[in-house]
Amino acid sequence: MENELVKVGIFWAIPDKISGQLLLEFNKRYLATDGDSNGFINYPYSHFEVWNNEVKGLGDDCYKYPRGRVIYDLSTRKHRIFADKCVAQSTIDDVVECFEIGEYDLLYDEHYVCNKCQRSEERLARERSEIGELKYEILRGKDTIGGNLIEISYGDTRLLVDFGRALDGGDKLSELERKVIATEYDAVILTHYHTDHAGLIRYKNDCKFYMGKGTRNILSAESDYNGEQMPSSVATFINGKPFKVGNILITPYLCDHSAFDSYMLLFEAGGKSLLYTGDFRFHGRKSSDALLKQLPKNVDTLIYEGTNVGRDVETISERELEDKLVEVMRKNKKPVFVLQSGTNIDRLVSVYRASKRAGRKLYEDNYTALVANAAGGSIPRPDVFDDVFAFTPRRLCGKRYDMFAEIENRIGTNQICESDNPFTMIVRPSMLEYIEKLDKKICLLGSTLVYSMWNGYKHDVNTSRFLEGIRDMSIEIVDLHTSGHATKNDIEKLKSAVCAKEEVCVHTKPI
Ligand SMILES: [Zn+2]
Ligand SMILES: [Zn+2]
Repeated sequence: MENELVKVGIFWAIPDKISGQLLLEFNKRYLATDGDSNGFINYPYSHFEVWNNEVKGLGDDCYKYPRGRVIYDLSTRKHRIFADKCVAQSTIDDVVECFEIGEYDLLYDEHYVCNKCQRSEERLARERSEIGELKYEILRGKDTIGGNLIEISYGDTRLLVDFGRALDGGDKLSELERKVIATEYDAVILTHYHTDHAGLIRYKNDCKFYMGKGTRNILSAESDYNGEQMPSSVATFINGKPFKVGNILITPYLCDHSAFDSYMLLFEAGGKSLLYTGDFRFHGRKSSDALLKQLPKNVDTLIYEGTNVGRDVETISERELEDKLVEVMRKNKKPVFVLQSGTNIDRLVSVYRASKRAGRKLYEDNYTALVANAAGGSIPRPDVFDDVFAFTPRRLCGKRYDMFAEIENRIGTNQICESDNPFTMIVRPSMLEYIEKLDKKICLLGSTLVYSMWNGYKHDVNTSRFLEGIRDMSIEIVDLHTSGHATKNDIEKLKSAVCAKEEVCVHTKPI
């Protein structure tokens, strides 16, 4: 080792019409014991000094051509080659031969950039600063669950991504909401139809809205039901198919969430990329492996939902939940009521499948039936499935009656009470009086209510009043739910698949 000789030095790669790049090198040979205090053997002269003293004949200056330096690392006993990005691999091979290098590490170093690359990088930076970079601003949703409002812009293109109402916002619009409604955007893009992501759409009609087809159908059914207007210009996007708004390219990726038709969205412009997850989970019915493979790698920014960050949430899959529902439904032939969100289509599928396995018919209230019909496809809906029926807990009038009357399979309260068929019924907190009416007719002692929503809603005034009334009728309450949001582990899985330079958590609450 002591007597080993190593060669270190500097070089230029001079463009040449025939060979591509000619190597111009200066070097010195040292004993391997001659390292500096950092454990490196280095060539003592700079490119500037050598050019001025030795090269002059080539004219120009020492910065014109791509260049590099070769040093020796005593700790690894390997050479290190520092070079400009545009030094060709064939020139590096020549360096290896000329400096008699065995093992080496190659490091691209901006310090050795040639004038040509420098100019083009400066031009790119100038262009970027003129048009700006792909930027984002989280207007709301960073330290709170729900009410997402995210602005994404590039040059003069400005997008609003998600247009949610705060979950505890009440009826009055906040100052921020009024400001966002008044702002001119090139488009509003929605990840899914939940109120905390789409609850403000009826207030804005001055730009185009982009969303998935299922999201559009459900939002428009909800708007009809509530007598509200959908925005007049709505375009739908397709899973995996990029589309452009102004200067920004957007690619949607279908993901699993407690809302049917939810998407992660990739935004790309000016060489930068940003992936926004919206709300998602990996324990639903859709395959997470397929999604993780499909998602882009090495994005610049990842904005991810962190509802369950820092919480140990026990989750079961929708399939496991279905099995547990079957157990409840097979216990006896008495009615099973399910308190769930009418727009949680995945849960509706689980409830339907369990009912079928337990030999029960499924009764959907008129709102849930409307949403199921709007979702279409293989979703259990009373206009196609012969074991699914729509009922109404109270007399309807006007448009709501017309919408109900259009449903193929309807069932009235008398038919429900007279039939011997065991049934499962989807209910909502506003239906307590209706269930009391049923209790008087068919005695609900021994029946079960499955509470299939987030536990936190139990503190809601209407829900707690409803649950109290259910208990008063001696109906057993069983909790069966699984989160619509990603667990801590799922989030880690996503992060390691995407490898983002910057990670930003939204839709979360400090614990
Ligand atoms: Zn949400
Ligand atoms: Zn959601």
